[in-house]
Amino acid sequence: MTGFGQTDYTSKRKQMVTTQLKARDIKDPATLYAMSNVRRHLFVPKNIQSQAYRDGPLPIGSGQTISQPYIVALMTQELQVKQTDRVLEIGTGSGYQAAVLAKIVDSVYTIEIVKNLALTAQDRLKKLGYTNVNVKWGDGYHGWPSKAPFDAIIVTAGADSIPQPLIDQLKKGGRMIIPVGPNNAVMQLVLVKKMEDKIITKNLIPVRFVPFTRED
Ligand code: SAH
Repeated sequence: MTGFGQTDYTSKRKQMVTTQLKARDIKDPATLYAMSNVRRHLFVPKNIQSQAYRDGPLPIGSGQTISQPYIVALMTQELQVKQTDRVLEIGTGSGYQAAVLAKIVDSVYTIEIVKNLALTAQDRLKKLGYTNVNVKWGDGYHGWPSKAPFDAIIVTAGADSIPQPLIDQLKKGGRMIIPVGPNNAVMQLVLVKKMEDKIITKNLIPVRFVPFTRED
């Protein structure tokens, strides 16, 4: 704590980067820079702000969660994004992962199926000055055809398979990261690389994610 009962979020964030990321396998300088600079406590409900930097996921309302910092960092690192990249995210949630990517890349397009979350995240990102993030309310299964192709795609809800429209909207040579597996069970975090005429997939680690839902 600092004076006037304020929590020192800057030092909590530094500690998170040191103990949860660097101490594990997060080495990418751009990822570490972004994780050090996005104020995660501003992406969670006020009553749990003090828990924002702990080593786990947190509820963000509408039955959804913001991922554990390590998982956000791992997914960001594995995407190997560059400054000039345009990235698509499915599952905006709080907008935190989008903000982390926005610190590194040219622009982020993010789709959220729960209207209330989409509107809240859009408003939050605007207020925090993330002008290179575009939020859309809708079913991310279809991707964002008018903005395709993308250099990288990140899916932050667990799907039973990789949606074909997302593969189609990925540039050749591009990477996608997506949790794949049955609902409410342990899934695999899968890295997808789009080659000239095929895709290659690699299982990274077992993970738990909220389910990828579809519009009725
Ligand atoms: N990236 C978020 C965490 C998201 S949790 C963050 O940083 O806070 C996963 C989100 O995916 C949930 O908000 C859920 O509503 C959303 N989601 C699930 N299925 C979806 C779909 N088909 N299209 C878009 N969003 C979806």
